[in-house]
Amino acid sequence: TTFEQLGLIPELLKRLTLLEYLNPTLVQGKAIPAVLLGRDLLAGAITGSGKTAAFALPMLQKLAKSSAKVSKGNQVCGLVLVPTRELAQQVADSFKSYGQLIKPRLKIEAVFGGVSANTQMLAMRGGADVLVATPGRLLDLISSNAIKLDDVKTLVLDEADRMLSLGFTEELNQVLALLPKHKQTLLFSATFPEEVKTLTDKLLSSPVEIQI
Ligand code: AMP
Repeated sequence: TTFEQLGLIPELLKRLTLLEYLNPTLVQGKAIPAVLLGRDLLAGAITGSGKTAAFALPMLQKLAKSSAKVSKGNQVCGLVLVPTRELAQQVADSFKSYGQLIKPRLKIEAVFGGVSANTQMLAMRGGADVLVATPGRLLDLISSNAIKLDDVKTLVLDEADRMLSLGFTEELNQVLALLPKHKQTLLFSATFPEEVKTLTDKLLSSPVEIQI
């Protein structure tokens, strides 16, 4: 398969060529068409499998095609939850890189703990097309009204097993309770212990299942 055969738009295809991504990885080949169709997704995929592009590319494409993408009033369209600050920055950088040729420019932001919240609060004015966040800092910024989640269309849980093993269960549940019921949800995890299965059952509806 090629990226073109997966149905990606020219703005993304051009960028992938520049990045010298010749062919989709296994998880990308399966995930991209399913996400474009609007399906929920359950993917067993580890770091190095190309999982970031597997969710970022179809999310960017949906935002590029959506007329409602202009974010407003601190609202977020695509929300990606990650366990660590390093992963938050890395995933946000990937979104920015893959989406570089999409016009008008998409607003991609990242919020995470360990640094001052002020800059992040300012950056969230006007909302974001995509927000990559660690659960604790996200809740802090919601409490201070810097972020609102009522308009989220797509939710990604990246490295769900690590998020739960790092003790984010309570924060995660608080975030999930603030999200609209009707949305697309994509869950990526390297392993599937009982806690992840419980979360999966609660969160996903008739997901496409991918095991790499
Ligand atoms: P990830 O599993 O998302 O952490 O990605 C692992 C690495 O593979 C990253 O450095 C990506 O830039 C790279 N990568 C992802 N997809 C592809 C692809 N289709 N072709 C070549 N490299 C890729």
